[in-house]
Amino acid sequence: MHDDDPRWHPDTRLLHDDAAPDDDAAVVPPIHYSATFRARDAAEFAEMANQPRHARYYTRYGNPVHERVAAVLAGLEGTETALLTASGMGAISTTVLAFVQAGDHVVAQTRHYMSTAKLFDEVLPRFGVQVSIVEQADTDAIAAALRPNTRLIMLETPANPTLVLTDLSAVAALARARGILTVADNTFASPLNQQPHALGIDIVVHSATKLLGGHHDLTAGVICCSRAQAEVLWRMHITLGAVLSPMDAWLLLRGLRTLAVRVERINASALALARWLERCPQVERVHYPLLESHPQHALAQRQMRGGGPVIAFALRCGFEATGRFVAALRLATHAVSLGGVESLIVHTAAMWAGTMNEAQLAAAGIPPNFVRLSVGLEHPEDLQQDLARALALALPEN
Ligand SMILES: *Cc1c(COP(=O)(O)O)cnc(C)c1O
Repeated sequence: MHDDDPRWHPDTRLLHDDAAPDDDAAVVPPIHYSATFRARDAAEFAEMANQPRHARYYTRYGNPVHERVAAVLAGLEGTETALLTASGMGAISTTVLAFVQAGDHVVAQTRHYMSTAKLFDEVLPRFGVQVSIVEQADTDAIAAALRPNTRLIMLETPANPTLVLTDLSAVAALARARGILTVADNTFASPLNQQPHALGIDIVVHSATKLLGGHHDLTAGVICCSRAQAEVLWRMHITLGAVLSPMDAWLLLRGLRTLAVRVERINASALALARWLERCPQVERVHYPLLESHPQHALAQRQMRGGGPVIAFALRCGFEATGRFVAALRLATHAVSLGGVESLIVHTAAMWAGTMNEAQLAAAGIPPNFVRLSVGLEHPEDLQQDLARALALALPEN
């Protein structure tokens, strides 16, 4: 890493932070598609086997491609180092399990990525960890939930389904004063739009499956942290074994090269589309952090540089017509996930219809007329036309 050259912008660092002297003349780094690495002699073997996070020993312990990608991601988040995992959930579960034990208390938000919520609601209590679930927009409620044995606060901002925000610097200050570890899931924003560590958050996790990879072609996760935390995390990581394949790590590095231009374009398109949707008569409500109508707009302006890819909106119709709207779109693909080059859309209530009844959906803040759009790299005018056409087809009476 080029710690000695802080003048570089993120755009440049994405291309050069992983530079390492290499005897290979290739401009593009190789994929080390090997599960294990050769030692020259007994002394080197002893070093490989005993040095934590060695990048050339055994791929579950580390791999040269992992090391390169980690250098780029740590540079972006402004942390000392980073650890790659096989998925975003691999990053989140490894982080929580590495630092929490029976008898500890943890705080999480009412709105989390569904599998993160399950980790806190269902898994941790089975292992004797006390869990408080708190409304994340209310920093005072987070403060009130803290106990003498609180070990960790899990944050995620913006969060599904209404892109509610958490005040990262306020929660970081609360936690720091009490020696509580803070972890923030920065997936929806990306490090180019929001830097939790610069706001005082200890550990930043991502589903690199989303914006960081950016092409809907890989599953990966990352934990950005200090070197001391990374050693603790790494010991848990090699035990849990959520190891990223060298191929997916290489694809992630390739995706990262264009992150800055992708995020810039996605931010601009998403904000323009959010503003346009707000003016559509068929649309009841639009949720996007950088809209003036967002209830936490001032906070969004303070802690985010751009709004990211996800727009949530409610239509002036019921479940059936919302489904027809989604089906009528030509450009936004009907699929889960977010942050890639193709725009994706989901009818949120349809996604959970198998596991939750209407009352449960309402309690979870997922009304039947709600959709989540992840804006991609199509031309924003084409996306707008496609949305307008589908709205006119599905809600002709408006
Ligand atoms: C997708 C996602 C995850 C889980 O990531 P995977 O790579 O699918 O394991 C976690 N948090 C958020 C906010 C996500 O969007």
